[in-house]
Amino acid sequence: MATAEENLMAWLRDAHAMETQAVQMLEGQAQRLENYPELRAKAQEHMEQSRLQAEMLEHCIERRGGSVSGFKEAAAGFMGNMQALSGLFITDEVMKGSIASYTFEHFEIANYRSLIAAAEQVGDQQTRDTCEEILRQEEAMASWLEQHLPEVTRQYLQRDATGAQAKR
Ligand code: MG
Ligand code: FE
Repeated sequence: MATAEENLMAWLRDAHAMETQAVQMLEGQAQRLENYPELRAKAQEHMEQSRLQAEMLEHCIERRGGSVSGFKEAAAGFMGNMQALSGLFITDEVMKGSIASYTFEHFEIANYRSLIAAAEQVGDQQTRDTCEEILRQEEAMASWLEQHLPEVTRQYLQRDATGAQAKR
C-alpha cells in the first residue's frame, strides 16, 4: 500500500532515471553518426533537451521533499550506454537506432501522460505543468522521427546499395 503522493514520488524518480538513459542513448548516437548529419544534429539537440528535462524533474522531486536515487541513475545510464553501444555490432546501426529512438519517445510520452494524471490527483499544479511542458517536447521529437524515418531509410538503402558507408 502506498499513498498517491508516494506513488507520484516513485514515478518522478523513474522518469528522472528514464531521462538519464535518454541522455546516454542520444549522446552515443550523436557521437557515432557520420553520414546522417540531420539525424545527428537532432540527436544532439534532443540530448541537451533531455538533460534539461532531468533537471526540471529533479526540481519537482526536491520541491516535494525527495531526492534522486543514485543507484537508479547509475543503472539507467548504464542501460542507455549499452543500448547505444549495441549499435556497434549490427550492420544497420542507424536504422536500429532510429527505430529504438522512435519507440523510446513513445515510452516517454506514456510516462508523462501518466505523471500528469498523478500530479493532478495530488493537486500538484507545478509538477503537472512541468510534465505537460516535457510531454510537448517528447511529442515534437516523436513526430520529427516519424516524419524523417522514411527518408533515413531511403538514404540508408541508397548508400548500402552503392557501397558507401551506410551503417552509421
Ligand atoms: Mg525526455
Ligand atoms: Fe525524449
